[in-house]
Amino acid sequence: MGYRKETEMIVDNKRGLDYSTANQPLYYSTAFLRPDLNAEDGYLYVRHGNPNRDKLEEKLAELENGRYAYAFNSGMSAISAALMTFSPGDHIIMPADMYGGTYQLVKTILKRFGLSFTEVDQTNINNVTDAVNANTKAIYIETPSNPTLKVTNIKAITQFASANNIKTLVDNTFMTPLGQNPLDLSADIVIHSATKFLSGHSDLIAGAVIVNDDDISMLLKELQVVMGLALGTYDCWTLNQHLKTLGIRWEQSISNTEKIHRFLTAHPKIEKVYYPSDNAVHMSQANHAGAVISFKLKNEDQAQKFADHLKIPLISVSLGGVETILSHPKTSSHKDLSESEQREKEITDGLFRLSVGIENSDDLITDLQAALETI
Ligand SMILES: *Cc1c(COP(=O)(O)O)cnc(C)c1O
Repeated sequence: MGYRKETEMIVDNKRGLDYSTANQPLYYSTAFLRPDLNAEDGYLYVRHGNPNRDKLEEKLAELENGRYAYAFNSGMSAISAALMTFSPGDHIIMPADMYGGTYQLVKTILKRFGLSFTEVDQTNINNVTDAVNANTKAIYIETPSNPTLKVTNIKAITQFASANNIKTLVDNTFMTPLGQNPLDLSADIVIHSATKFLSGHSDLIAGAVIVNDDDISMLLKELQVVMGLALGTYDCWTLNQHLKTLGIRWEQSISNTEKIHRFLTAHPKIEKVYYPSDNAVHMSQANHAGAVISFKLKNEDQAQKFADHLKIPLISVSLGGVETILSHPKTSSHKDLSESEQREKEITDGLFRLSVGIENSDDLITDLQAALETI
């Protein structure tokens, strides 16, 4: 998305003053005044819409080359709304290594409302087509997946799905709209946890759903407004500010990740690196391998020591911030899986996931190098 002006015209007709601004003001009000009793246009009550949410949604739609975008108060409420556009009796095919919150949502909550789900390893399209039954209405994709960056062929699935009257949803959080645009690959619904790269400052929680279809758009709007899932006004304003630097943050993060990828791949103490830069399917549907990279230490029992000696990365969870974040899936995001599930998903003691920030790349590599020397 190119840079564009964001001036706002605000004229006080009573006093003949012009308060036009360079930056969109924060409209921190729960209700808007009605010029006359029969007025039909304009804002009324905050849950139904407000200028800050509209401005943000306009930008989100443009970023994903979509016609409609809706801002939600978390990635999870965005995913909930997207899945609630389906109806009792509908069957939905999910990825085997979906985001943990999504797994809980479909396993515990949405099942009670009559939706059914099958999880399959979507990296092989045959697993997806085999799971289809007469009630299958949707295929939900996450690519690359967390934390081992496995790739699903979006186009192969959307082609199969549209020929069979099945909708396709893509959680595009890891790639951002700058790295991958699923609507251009004929997906029907794109979802983001805007808590990650879109906001980028590890400060706010938000989600987004972007679509082209008029009917799905109307369902989403209804869910957003009636269930009260919309992003709050202040966070709309802040996310709108953060989006202005998404381009330069993403460029710096992916360039740092390329260098870290080269460094880790060549390092004798690294057993394996997970990064989709050599995956032909990924590189055909995305313009870059992204800013999340995972790796496994050769010496798997040295994970704590390695983490202790790092000075720059934050040892935490989450991703997409300006600070580099190192996570240890086995003891955080994936600690509730059984031993055998962990093994199957390659979640071992020595596995780390790095969400690469915008720091100086030499500093990051020097820091990783020093920590690896201690183990
Ligand atoms: C974080 C995340 C979510 C959930 O988003 P929240 O903003 O935490 O609700 C969903 N999908 C992916 C891939 C994520 O990384």
